[in-house]
Amino acid sequence: MRIARRIEHVPPYLFAEIDRKKAEVQARGVEVISLGIGDPDQPTPEHIVKTLQAEAAVPAHHRYPAYEGSPEYRRAVATYYKKRFGVDLDPEREVTALIGSKEGIGHIFLAFVDPGDYTLIPDPGYPVYRTGTIFAGGIPHLMPLRAENGFFPDLGAVDPEAARKARLMFLNYPNNPTGAVAGPAQLQKAVDFCRERGIVLCHDAAYLEFTYDGYRQPSLLEIDGSMEVGLEFGSLSKPYNMTGWRIAYAVGNADAVSALRIIKTNLDSGQFTAIERAAVAALEGSQEPVEGMRNLYKERRDLVIDALRKVGLQVDPPAGSFYVWAPVPPGRTSTEFATRLLEETGVLVVPGVGYGEAGEGYFRISLTIDTSRLREAMARVVERFKV
Ligand SMILES: *Cc1c(COP(=O)(O)O)cnc(C)c1O
Repeated sequence: MRIARRIEHVPPYLFAEIDRKKAEVQARGVEVISLGIGDPDQPTPEHIVKTLQAEAAVPAHHRYPAYEGSPEYRRAVATYYKKRFGVDLDPEREVTALIGSKEGIGHIFLAFVDPGDYTLIPDPGYPVYRTGTIFAGGIPHLMPLRAENGFFPDLGAVDPEAARKARLMFLNYPNNPTGAVAGPAQLQKAVDFCRERGIVLCHDAAYLEFTYDGYRQPSLLEIDGSMEVGLEFGSLSKPYNMTGWRIAYAVGNADAVSALRIIKTNLDSGQFTAIERAAVAALEGSQEPVEGMRNLYKERRDLVIDALRKVGLQVDPPAGSFYVWAPVPPGRTSTEFATRLLEETGVLVVPGVGYGEAGEGYFRISLTIDTSRLREAMARVVERFKV
């Protein structure tokens, strides 16, 4: 049996590697506190769960769902965009349901990238942008995110040949892993860059609801000209603690939505309508639970920043997402640092290089862990760890 090259060339999924390391340390009797994966620890709000319970019993939902999402779900997404961002969307042509945004992000490359085409991908970044490109036969061209540019790509520095051959660009703000946000002027530059070159601009907006200290992350679709080239991926996973439910959406340019639908109708058959009804309840119901999560993550963020500063790591509080992206002490790689931290304290963080070469020199802490466990992890770091 010979496995396809597109699989051979994919690095092992980051968290699978980390789980292996964690198991090794645990086998030595160390009690590990994982600050690795970003997966909300709090339950889905009750009114959403109740809606699923009721809708699961409706026989009409037991048959194949609408590929593109039920009209009710697409309307709820459009209404949310109008209310939250002042953006008008046609639920028929400019909104489509996804089985989690990872699914849509993985598939969008098949809709726009032919073998040999380039994609412009942030480094560090969510690993699916790179593997999605490779699965489509494309060539990922990495755009480094550097602290001195506010972790926004320097579009003037993109190799002109790569820009010419690029079909698709990904941005992600609030950003995983750096926690950076992007303002309207930065997003406008990206829209203009992509419009001039006929590049589809994909915005991964998984953390749109999580900003702090008065920052507000605009939707890509608020930006002038964005509907000509833009596609935004939004997800119920993070704001409503619904990562296990697999419900999300893509919104934006109608041709891009249509191209994505063609790929999807041939590979999947949509999400359970009862789950979509629960997502409608999430989008249309009280947004107080989201505010509660924002406050909780801010409290956790601040306790992490405090502890890291105590051990001498100079780190700025992130304006968005639920991650802290912190520099490792000089003279060490991020992997060496994360390994030593795990071995000496049992606290697991992700080495920045796991998100791409430009992530070297950093590590990521996820704030999706019970606050008292997080406090204990930070106490261990402060007590036992010498930078
Ligand atoms: C969590 C995450 C996603 C995926 O979210 P799902 O909708 O649960 O698939 C996408 N992009 C980034 C950057 C994420 O961190």
